[in-house]
Amino acid sequence: MNTKSIRFRLITWYATLLAILFIFLGVGGYWGFKHYLMQTSLRTLEERAQQIGLTLVDYKDEDYIVDDINKHYAPEINDRFLRITRDDGKQVYISGLPKDGSFDPSHLPLLNKPVNQAFLREEQSLGVGGLLIYTLPFKVKSGTTLVLEVGISSRQIEDPLHGLLVTIVIGLPIVVGVAIGGGYLLIRRSLLLVTAITHAAEKITLGNISERLPIAKTGDELEQLSFSLNNMIARLEETFQHINRFTADASHELRTPLTILHCDLEAIIQKRSLDPQINEMIGSALEETERLAKIVEGLLEVARLDAGETKMVFIPLDLASLTLTTVEQIRLMAEDKEIELACQADSTVMVAGDPLRLKQIVVNLLDNAIKYTPSGATIDVKVISSKDHALLRVKDTGMGIPREALPHIFERFYRADKARSRQLAGYGLGLSIAKSICNAHGGYITASSLEGQGSCFTVQLPLIVEHSD
Ligand code: ADP
Repeated sequence: MNTKSIRFRLITWYATLLAILFIFLGVGGYWGFKHYLMQTSLRTLEERAQQIGLTLVDYKDEDYIVDDINKHYAPEINDRFLRITRDDGKQVYISGLPKDGSFDPSHLPLLNKPVNQAFLREEQSLGVGGLLIYTLPFKVKSGTTLVLEVGISSRQIEDPLHGLLVTIVIGLPIVVGVAIGGGYLLIRRSLLLVTAITHAAEKITLGNISERLPIAKTGDELEQLSFSLNNMIARLEETFQHINRFTADASHELRTPLTILHCDLEAIIQKRSLDPQINEMIGSALEETERLAKIVEGLLEVARLDAGETKMVFIPLDLASLTLTTVEQIRLMAEDKEIELACQADSTVMVAGDPLRLKQIVVNLLDNAIKYTPSGATIDVKVISSKDHALLRVKDTGMGIPREALPHIFERFYRADKARSRQLAGYGLGLSIAKSICNAHGGYITASSLEGQGSCFTVQLPLIVEHSD
């Protein structure tokens, strides 16, 4: 799991915040409910104590109290506690065990100090359970002060609180889990669009720069982002076309003066009366104009291919037989250098393409392989079909390409070793042309190499899949 991904970070933040929020809510709810229960119990006890006090206003003796209480309140039946103590400390009444047995009044210690004002207290461990007791001093007509202690079992508060606690403890993880699950799905849905845009953006290269990213009609920032990226790609495409047009125009304009120069130099060199030294210089100038003309032709070709201005005829053709024929035509060149040229292209591999241009790819790759492979080595050519594409592979056991040069060899005029390439009559355009042709065919070309051990160039083109109905 990628802990730095937006999805992971969002969900972690969301889950943490949600859990903290729910814990606060749970704790707050618990204390709020406890407070409410205490207040309600206090009010009830207060009212009851006042009520009992009023009925005892005419207090005469103990029997009077016992009769009166049993007649009006029967605390045991109502699971309540009642104790009445005189101001001289004598206990005049105490209720018995309640019906639910939740506390035992006999365990309650006697009041050891005079009571001047009402108060609420909680007595724990009274046999079975605790008691919440409201104590009220009450003066009766005879002048005696009776201390009334009215109580309820602590369970009446603890039970609902315990219920709430259980609900919170069980419910909280469930609620947080469901919220996280829902959040995960929502975030995943939004990020699927980001993934789709990323994949589409990765596929856009100079070869298919006219393609655009998918626009999600969500009306949100993602839609805005894909719009902005598409506008940026459009601007890049425009700039790229502009550069290509400029290169093509410049190369085109250079062709005519170069041809004139070449013809003039040829005419001069044919004059017999020339000084041999001048003759040699003109010969060298002629060689350079030829070289220049080839560069200009190459440049014009790449620029036109990249600008989509080259007219191409796309027809279904067998790449295997096209390669075999080309290899045979070039075999002589390899034999001259005592290089063994092997070609494996047995079964038909159908592609839609321009035969002349595809042949040019094979020629350029073989030309390089022969150029950069020493005598006695071997070159293997292979054409196969794999899944939905055709593969053409040219592998040599030559000098190879330095690792730092490998990413640049398809750039215009790039030569891994300039001195070596010039010696071998290279212009650094052969692979650029091959790449542009591949792109124009909806395919691509890749290279792998180990310096001193050889190189392998692979061309991948879309295969024509024949449907058998
Ligand atoms: P060039 O005309 O210089 O061969 P290319 O565009 O065909 O230009 O190739 C670019 C550079 O890639 C070459 O200068 C060479 O350094 C390197 N290169 C291409 N093919 C091979 C190969 N088969 N073996 C070694 N180096 C190669």
